[in-house]
Amino acid sequence: MSARVCIVGAGPRGTSVLERLGALAGSLDLEVHVVDPFPPGPGRIWRERQPSLLWMNSTVAGVAMFGPGVPSLGEWSGLPATAFATRPQAGAYFSWVFEQAASRVSRLVVHTDRVVDIVDGRVVLSSGVAFDVDAVILAQGHIDPLPSSAELEYLDHARRFGLTYVPSGYASDVSAIPAGAPVIARGLGLTFVDYMVLLTEGRGGQFHRVPGGELVYEPSGREPVLYAGSRSGLPYHAKPGYRLAEPAPLPKFLDRETVPGAALDFGSDLWPLVVKEGAWGYYHELFLAHPERVRGQWADFVTGFEKFDWGSAELDALIEEAVPGDRFDIDALFEPLRWHGGDFHTFAERFLAEVLDVRNNRDRSPLIGAVNGIGSALGVVHELLAERRIAGASRVIDIEQRFLPMTSFLTSGPPGRRTEENAGPGPRRVRPLPRAGPGDHASCGRLRGGDRGRDAHRPLPDRGPAASAQHRPCRRSPGAGPVGAGRVRGGLRLD
Ligand SMILES: Cc1cc2nc3c(=O)[nH]c(=O)nc-3n(C[C@H](O)[C@H](O)[C@H](O)COP(=O)(O)OP(=O)(O)OC[C@H]3O[C@@H](n4cnc5c(N)ncnc54)[C@H](O)[C@@H]3O)c2cc1C
Repeated sequence: MSARVCIVGAGPRGTSVLERLGALAGSLDLEVHVVDPFPPGPGRIWRERQPSLLWMNSTVAGVAMFGPGVPSLGEWSGLPATAFATRPQAGAYFSWVFEQAASRVSRLVVHTDRVVDIVDGRVVLSSGVAFDVDAVILAQGHIDPLPSSAELEYLDHARRFGLTYVPSGYASDVSAIPAGAPVIARGLGLTFVDYMVLLTEGRGGQFHRVPGGELVYEPSGREPVLYAGSRSGLPYHAKPGYRLAEPAPLPKFLDRETVPGAALDFGSDLWPLVVKEGAWGYYHELFLAHPERVRGQWADFVTGFEKFDWGSAELDALIEEAVPGDRFDIDALFEPLRWHGGDFHTFAERFLAEVLDVRNNRDRSPLIGAVNGIGSALGVVHELLAERRIAGASRVIDIEQRFLPMTSFLTSGPPGRRTEENAGPGPRRVRPLPRAGPGDHASCGRLRGGDRGRDAHRPLPDRGPAASAQHRPCRRSPGAGPVGAGRVRGGLRLD
């Protein structure tokens, strides 16, 4: 028997799909076509030809591709487990993994091109080349959305006043921005970090450690003047600079197979389990890394913790008995997002110092355990979203507007070094804008002629109506789609 399959997109996920096809093909005479305009393996995000100033925001120990004998990025590169690889370094690893996967497929054709249409099993590339396949697998990753209505307004405003406005998406080429030009970045997440680095160190600025150990920025004079702000006005939490005593098995309580039914309500059906997951990560680390701060044995604590519901009197009593001092407090984790007034600048400075303390001080390691717990719950919530098991209003209001931004704030931060760079004394490379408040991002309305606005907020990956032109042909083709148990936000599940 024979089959022809096309994988659209050859980033890490397309590479994993190729590996599985090769491994599971058995006696099938399999021909695989892989299409991507970027190099297969790294794809667009991890391509080796990009500045080394752009880093991964996961430690090398946490990046591992599936496959027999495939080492983690840490093992493969020889970098220390807590190091953060540059994106080109990660790209080299993904290229190598792709080569391993490719060697297991009997016939492989790599097309350095873009798929523009799929009609009745015929895949059409932008070059005009077309070929027939039995199945198409979409592994397109994060997609460029069409500009939102707010972004269209900004574009219109920019056009009328002779400004430059770059809508959200990947950090784009910044070489045309002249030195000294005022630039506003809207959003303080990871895309902002990319822009900040490209516009400062990328322009020749350098950091030096001063005798107190802090980092001080020395401008090159070729930087633009970078203003940045967001709804919270705060950057994301930084990644820790140490490893936990023994990572907790996660997720433990929130399981998509045991959560009952469809049309789930996030607040009542999922949130208690999300919090319990955070508490589990917290107490696991507290008991194992700081036994002097607890009473009794971990094994006894676990028995009760597993049995009782989060918020029940029994679980409260168990925690009160076993943990005399620092208990898990979900509200405290998100407290910085609820600024209660006063001088915001002082508040933000204190927040940065707190973030760095949690990152550097092993006494605070249970908090990292809690963040890991909540991060693991986030993965399950994504699966439930993909399976359309969450009621519409709850999905939009509870998850997309609240839970996802809150968890990004906690779990999606940059390597700590980036936070440290922004916390040091002396001239700052970014000028903070006032906190924009809920429902709004930093305003670009104040831009004047010659100014630039960079939208450093990246929208959720989605295959909804806002997907870009290069993805639309794939979506509208009836034969094209994810395989296995269905669509997962941003990816595929192969069961
Ligand atoms: C800027 C950025 C930084 C990130 N940093 C991290 C990180 O540090 N750690 C982490 O774990 N995750 C990170 N991520 C998340 C990232 O999405 C995943 O790490 C991973 O790259 C996802 O793999 P993927 O193959 O699903 O998608 P992608 O890596 O996005 O690959 C999809 C590929 O599909 C191709 N493609 C799309 N449309 C077509 C078409 N029509 N025809 C042909 N090819 C097409 C694209 O060119 C691309 O190469 C980051 C994401 C971004 C955007």
